[in-house]
Amino acid sequence: MRKTKKVVRIGGVQIGGNSPIAVQSMTKTKTKDITKTVNQIKRLERVGCEMVRVAVVNKDDAAALSRIKQAITIPLIADIHFDYRLALKSLDAQVDKIRINPGTIGEVWKVREVIKKAQDCGTPIRIGVNSGSLPPHILKRHKHPTPTAIVETAREALAIFQKNAFDNIVISAKGADVMDTVSAYRILSEEFDYPLHIGITEAGLPFRGGIKSAVGLSILLHEGIGDTIRVSLTSDPVMEVVAAHEILSSLGLRRQNPILISCPTCGRCEVNLEKIARVVDKRLSQYKDYMKVAVMGCVVNGPGEAREADFGIACGKKVGVIFAKGKEIKRVREARLVDELFEVIDENLDH
Ligand code: SF4
Repeated sequence: MRKTKKVVRIGGVQIGGNSPIAVQSMTKTKTKDITKTVNQIKRLERVGCEMVRVAVVNKDDAAALSRIKQAITIPLIADIHFDYRLALKSLDAQVDKIRINPGTIGEVWKVREVIKKAQDCGTPIRIGVNSGSLPPHILKRHKHPTPTAIVETAREALAIFQKNAFDNIVISAKGADVMDTVSAYRILSEEFDYPLHIGITEAGLPFRGGIKSAVGLSILLHEGIGDTIRVSLTSDPVMEVVAAHEILSSLGLRRQNPILISCPTCGRCEVNLEKIARVVDKRLSQYKDYMKVAVMGCVVNGPGEAREADFGIACGKKVGVIFAKGKEIKRVREARLVDELFEVIDENLDH
């Protein structure tokens, strides 16, 4: 498996090398609204966001960064387009990383100014290429934001950083097309040793966007490509973090939250299993421990799956069987199934 060789520290989180893949999200509030932004970040922290990015669009946003940073515990990343002076102000505010887009920052001397300041502050920079905002000269050459055009943009930007002896770098090269994005990251990871932040940009509403992101990120992560991930969704950012953890957990790269296994139901099912599964899923979101919990509709596959999981229920007609650690614990009537399942879970957890 390919692994990024260089290690970069973003506040208290280390990425690259053998570090675990970190989950990132981005706030959707106006950054200058400190209360709303901090509240959103705290919600993200609670569901397992490990670093958060905020848009720095103007001076008021930049001025809010120090207070936001003081109020949160995860690393804060300032996202800057167009105005390099906002990057300088963000660095003054001691953010943990800045993200600049080489397609929108403009002249080389502006990028150099940012590099110089980041060098003084010891702050890492993400070179964030995006298929929707490639520099005009590259777009003219390639006509479309192809993987080669995306990589060429990253390569050009990197040359400026390398010329200025700056290697505290993370790269991203996100596209809206899944397979183009995968191709771009494959080239980047062959060519460079810098940690990669990966994601499918503008993926869409949660259902389609979640699937697109899962497909793209899974291919890359399975090939050992990617050090931080973001699932970009047109939705509450909490969904982005939940989806990111689900992807990592499905790939066996994370074992820290409960996993719900539930059957699709069929003509053999005698209970409203979807309702039961939704209630169990909601209650499980309060738990941080890794455990597999099975909610099964009947006695065909039910007991087998439920026994293989750490905890489970196999439903019958108005009655269900609760399993824990492979053993049948009790039979209970349908109305009590979920409560009794959680009593068993709580009794069996170590704390
Ligand atoms: Fe159907 Fe039972 Fe399988 Fe669920 S566990 S899909 S109800 S056979």
